[in-house]
Amino acid sequence: MMESHEVIDLKSLSRSALSSFIEGLGFPKYRADQIFRWMYQSGVAEFDEMTNLPLADRQRLADVAFLGSLKMIRDFRSSDGTIKILFALPSARKIETVLIPDFDSTGKAVRTTVCVSSQVGCAMGCTFCATGLMGFHENLDSGQIFDQVFYANRLSEQTFSRPVSNIVYMGMGEPFLNFGAVLDSVNKITSSSGLEMAPKRITISTVGLAARIRDFADAHTRCNLAVSLHAPTDQKRSSIMPINKKRKTDLEALKGAVIYYTGRTGLPVTYEYCMFSGFNDSEADALALAAVTKWAPSKVNLIMYNPVDSTGFQRTEETQLDRFIRILVKKRIRVTVRRSRGQDINAACGQLAAENLPA
Ligand code: SF4
Repeated sequence: MMESHEVIDLKSLSRSALSSFIEGLGFPKYRADQIFRWMYQSGVAEFDEMTNLPLADRQRLADVAFLGSLKMIRDFRSSDGTIKILFALPSARKIETVLIPDFDSTGKAVRTTVCVSSQVGCAMGCTFCATGLMGFHENLDSGQIFDQVFYANRLSEQTFSRPVSNIVYMGMGEPFLNFGAVLDSVNKITSSSGLEMAPKRITISTVGLAARIRDFADAHTRCNLAVSLHAPTDQKRSSIMPINKKRKTDLEALKGAVIYYTGRTGLPVTYEYCMFSGFNDSEADALALAAVTKWAPSKVNLIMYNPVDSTGFQRTEETQLDRFIRILVKKRIRVTVRRSRGQDINAACGQLAAENLPA
């Protein structure tokens, strides 16, 4: 009778867990580094492609492990160049990754940004967000987060003749509710044995989980932090972001965490602020936002909202946006505006909902 044994997905493991696993097989210590490079530098799909490993070791690995990878289902191409990629997980659930190019006046891509998902769905329930409306389904492992970047990087080279320049964890999910996998994926992306991308090109975006912001500061990743603020007072923020109703994650808690983060890392924090017509775009809102930015070194990224059916929110008018910006600039606040990209393929901020999710 054949003995059954569990096979393990090597790409789901952190670097240290991989080392322990490989050493547990009785392989020499350096073998884990070789395997790490094959997985995260070369992106091989089979152990047989790891040609500097003895054949016996490759066969042993194939007996006890496999190399999991996301299955690309299809992509959607926007008229503005943005590409949304739909991947399937082993569970058959789907996630979305977005590749956003920026072009110069000659039409050459000068920068491409990949927006990755860290969870299927999201438990945070922000009322303006299509992902939030889905609820939470499952966490991605670090290999699955890494695969999105690896795939998008290759697609960027093929389509725009340049590698990915920036990575933002702003797709589906709350990255800090999948903290370990997110940090492991950052390690795989930045490692000199992986994609070797600079941490300063990576931004992790959180809804504002105060305790995790402190943990993130302590992790010394040198990645950037973005906080989804979207409203400058507790009363307004709680009405669109349920997380703000808890004392541990209200604005006062966020303030303490942001001060800790900027002090510990020496990096500014970016506040993401979606402009909703008639809700958070008045002069009083601008002044309240200005007060928040004085907590610690920071900048503000105003996002032109992409309406999602059934949320009831509308985008702020351009004239109102101008007024809002003028108030912030007068207060010497660094402000950028993010315009809608990929709207025609539902790839813009807050619109990711992985079409065709199984029931
Ligand atoms: S805005 Fe972010 S945190 Fe809020 S529900 Fe959407 S994905 Fe989750």
